[in-house]
Amino acid sequence: MKMSKLFVQTLREFPSDAEVISHKMLVRAGYIRKLTSGVYNYLPLMWRVLRKVENIVREEMDNAGAQELLMPFVQPKELWEESGRWEVYGKELMRLRDRHNREMCLGPTHEEIITAIARDGLKSYKQMPVNLYQIQSKFRDEVRPRFGLLRGREFIMKDAYSFDTSQEGLEKEYENMAQAYTKIFKRCGLNTKMVQSDSGAIGGSVSHEFMVITDTDAGENDVFYCDACDYSANSNHAISKLPETKTSGDWTSAQVINTPNTHTIEELCEFLKIPASLIVKTLVYIIDKKPVLALIRGDKQVEETKLLNAVGGIDIRIATAGEIQEMMKVNGFNAEPGFIGPMGLKEYNGYQITVVADETVKELKNFVIGVNQKDKHGVGYNWGAGICNDFECVNSGSMDLPKIVTDLRLVEAGEFCPTCGQPLKVTRGIEVGNIFQLGTKYSAPMNAVYLDQNGKTQPYVMGCYGIGISRTAAAAVEPHYDENGIKWPLAIAPYHAVVIPVSTKDEEQMKVAEDIYKTLLKHGVEAVLDDRDERPGVKFKDADLIGFPYRITVGKGISDGVVEFKVRETCEMSNIAPEQAAEIVITAVTNLK
Ligand code: ATP
Ligand code: MG
Repeated sequence: MKMSKLFVQTLREFPSDAEVISHKMLVRAGYIRKLTSGVYNYLPLMWRVLRKVENIVREEMDNAGAQELLMPFVQPKELWEESGRWEVYGKELMRLRDRHNREMCLGPTHEEIITAIARDGLKSYKQMPVNLYQIQSKFRDEVRPRFGLLRGREFIMKDAYSFDTSQEGLEKEYENMAQAYTKIFKRCGLNTKMVQSDSGAIGGSVSHEFMVITDTDAGENDVFYCDACDYSANSNHAISKLPETKTSGDWTSAQVINTPNTHTIEELCEFLKIPASLIVKTLVYIIDKKPVLALIRGDKQVEETKLLNAVGGIDIRIATAGEIQEMMKVNGFNAEPGFIGPMGLKEYNGYQITVVADETVKELKNFVIGVNQKDKHGVGYNWGAGICNDFECVNSGSMDLPKIVTDLRLVEAGEFCPTCGQPLKVTRGIEVGNIFQLGTKYSAPMNAVYLDQNGKTQPYVMGCYGIGISRTAAAAVEPHYDENGIKWPLAIAPYHAVVIPVSTKDEEQMKVAEDIYKTLLKHGVEAVLDDRDERPGVKFKDADLIGFPYRITVGKGISDGVVEFKVRETCEMSNIAPEQAAEIVITAVTNLK
């Protein structure tokens, strides 16, 4: 490719709306242009990168025994009703109607479609196991599209779905996919960590995410890991052992005492001269319109995905002060946030109030709790007889734990590994892929069955496996850049090398440059010849910004038989013979295959 013909417009400045490196770089270096919020044009350079990522994914999926197909982007409502997800998927699902008023959606994922395909053609146990995948655009109407390709609304995904006759079969395929993913990301030049995760809206029980570890803002997930053993988990799934702390108060009897102006845990601790670990904190949530109280030890935070999983639901938010006051009124109290407790709270908004407790509150003795009275708290309370939602317990100082007591706690740095007890570390990650054991979550409701060896119908045991192609390409920029531009890993760079004649008017320089360029092309190197009549500084700047892994500059040195060779990753420069420069690049590219 001649640089004079390459369709690329680099910008002098970073775009003002970009927050993270990959977004800034990809726009400035002419890879992507925003069409509308969360929707991008992939310009020729980007498309080459995306195709390279796709091809690596395709090769490894094929090697792992999966078969590629392509499903439609637009999907009918009926299949989503069969799986039960039409109602529950929420606003990320982009719904539309056709001219006949039939309801459809833009595919955010394809479990329903693939299950219907299987139901149609996968009738016997003899046809399994099978794993089908596609590489295609997805659309999710994300609440906060941001970070360029990292969180778009339209993006490219590889999604694979496996069908097995048993849980053991599924587990084998799951492991097979985990290995394929490890190879894929390694080949893309990315360091990833496979971490345990929550399975969210897709469902299923076991799932793992592949994270690109980064200390930048681009890492949207906190990842907890242990250096001493191989434990690692996403924050929505992580568990930990807690350091020893005071969990029993010194009060000898239960009483309601005045605690004026103690609206926060800190103020209450200060007033009572106690650690936060002696307080049962009551948080009021609204989950799909329904009121939920979450009880957790005062020094700990609620992990909202865990709470969602505990009670079921899609949309979770903390209640407003207004809603809390209204809830108090409806139940006959007059308290403000800061003084709330579970007792006596029965209903709100036409729904019964659900109370869930984190495991940390279970061990507490002689604790402090809100009693729904302004400027007062209960102290010296204990779990025992008496119903949590029953106001009587305020007087007795004793109440039962709510029915649901489970892990709701957000793990924090400084806590200990649940497996080996060593200190847990925290870092941030970009999720580039994930794998799920779905089981029969889709096949059972959709009546997608096969005949087993005994002629009995059974639902398929399924797995699903996603990789964000466009996110992976962008994530690769996050650890691979410097102030001058991108440093693409060779395997996914749009071109492997650029050859720059310092002066296009110098016939000899042009001839040597063209010879090197042709040699590279002949040996399968994707090379660009910067034949523009520009100052060398402009060409060098563009080469660094675009991020060609190798730069061969042909200048005055050719009178001494040398060219300048630059490795973008290390920025090392050397003066070597043209043949040697070409040889290094050819060898590196050949070794990719
Ligand atoms: P996230 O938690 O980041 O929203 P997800 O868990 O909803 O992602 P999956 O449904 O598991 O995503 O999709 C599989 C892969 O698709 C993800 O691992 C990620 O690489 C990619 N992906 C998901 N959402 C987006 C998005 N909005 N933009 C770009 N890539 C995405
Ligand atoms: Mg995920």
